[in-house]
Amino acid sequence: MTVQERIDWLDEARIGAALARADHVEDAAQVREILSKARTLGGLSEDDVAVLLSVKDPALTHELYDAARFVKTEIYGPRIVLFAPLYFSNICTNECVYCAFRRSNHELDRKVLSMDEIEAETAALIDQGHKRLLLIGGEAFPKGGFQYLIDAIERIYSVKRGRGEIRRININVAPLSVDQFRQLKAAQIGTYQLFQETYHRKTYAEMHLDGPKADFDWRASAIDRAMEAGIDDVGLGPLFGLADWRFEVLALMQHIAHLEAKFGVGCHTISAPRMEPAVGSEVSLHPPHLVSDEDFKRIVAILRLAVPYTGLIMSTRETPEMRRETLELGVSQISGGSRTNPGGYATPAEEQAAQFTRGDHRSLDEVVRDVAACGHVPSFCTACYRMGRTGADFMDLAKPGLIREMCGPNAISSFMEYMLDYGSGDTNAAGERAIAGEVATMEPKLKRYSETMMRKVREGKRDVFR
Ligand code: SAM
Ligand code: SF4
Repeated sequence: MTVQERIDWLDEARIGAALARADHVEDAAQVREILSKARTLGGLSEDDVAVLLSVKDPALTHELYDAARFVKTEIYGPRIVLFAPLYFSNICTNECVYCAFRRSNHELDRKVLSMDEIEAETAALIDQGHKRLLLIGGEAFPKGGFQYLIDAIERIYSVKRGRGEIRRININVAPLSVDQFRQLKAAQIGTYQLFQETYHRKTYAEMHLDGPKADFDWRASAIDRAMEAGIDDVGLGPLFGLADWRFEVLALMQHIAHLEAKFGVGCHTISAPRMEPAVGSEVSLHPPHLVSDEDFKRIVAILRLAVPYTGLIMSTRETPEMRRETLELGVSQISGGSRTNPGGYATPAEEQAAQFTRGDHRSLDEVVRDVAACGHVPSFCTACYRMGRTGADFMDLAKPGLIREMCGPNAISSFMEYMLDYGSGDTNAAGERAIAGEVATMEPKLKRYSETMMRKVREGKRDVFR
């Protein structure tokens, strides 16, 4: 790998100045004007976001949360997409000081899954009811190099269990070359996700001591290479806890603005990982910029207003309570029943090899029940990328209301499929109530679509979508 040229879209000085300006005065009238603008669903500028990041007054914070709830409901309705991570390996060449997988950590049992073990993990996830996976691992492909990843994707898509299968594989692996990204695209991945961890160069250098990941610019330019290779659904995310969270949010806005200017579309998803304790990592126990629960909720609410059509992902790093609260404020995708160690689904006893401690230990069925009991509709739909509704096409359709019109009925039919094939009695009772509540609010045409699709699923058809 050659050393990457310095990226030109990140302006640390501008971020510093914006934060200093916004910190100086809390102008309630200006904040309210920005919140009104956000309610028109057109997103916010970097300067608007800087103002919102500095809101401290409890009454204004309340208004911020109200606006986020409004935008969330207007665009997404009650639907929440579910997925699970599949860790293929915990072997890594890098030295990220906060991660249990880092090369020098001898407190961890190392494991890389064989193709048969990948199949066993996939089978266990399908048997829980999952349709969407995030394939993830340390930076060191096992024997076979990069081809291992392509083989793993093919193997996962090939697994059929009764009426179940994985219909979308998203990927979170270290930065690749354009040619490798092309191969990922040809293997029919959904979203390519990569977390910059921190956009603050000095902190980045302190946190990434060795290995290819020490090159800030190689990582910060990876999403460009993915998009150049034709992957148009990409996911970003800082690891909150490393640098000032307000800096990270503004830098993320600059990253998105760069992608929009260069490729005509920003990111499909943003993940909001917050640092969790990891075996053998002092830094993970004492993050340099610990993000409080209150600030974490602000992050979700502000992102929801800033990029309303971008999916927001919350992992099982967070507790059930935090996940419930942030679902209201803007999160649109959550993981359920997750394990962060390779082999953790087929052999659950071996959690010692995990990447970090989970905050949510519930099974998928329990998560689904809770989500439905809160009035949301859990969705297992994977229609968009299979229908070519990706990248700019997705955004063009999303803006006039696609998410509610297409994804609403699709969520209901995919949830019905889950209930019939995998749901427990209590979960299905909560699910039927959530679906009935949602269908009752639908306009006649969407109600008709939803009822027809549910009838088909009840009659035995699977993978029914629009
Ligand atoms: N190894 C690749 C990489 O770093 O890009 C792929 C995925 S890595 C297994 C997934 C993500 O886990 C990292 O990008 C990082 O944000 C997150 N992570 C690492 N240590 C963590 C910790 N202690 N708590 C929470 N998230 C952590
Ligand atoms: Fe390796 Fe990723 Fe962990 Fe860094 S965060 S040590 S690259 S697995």
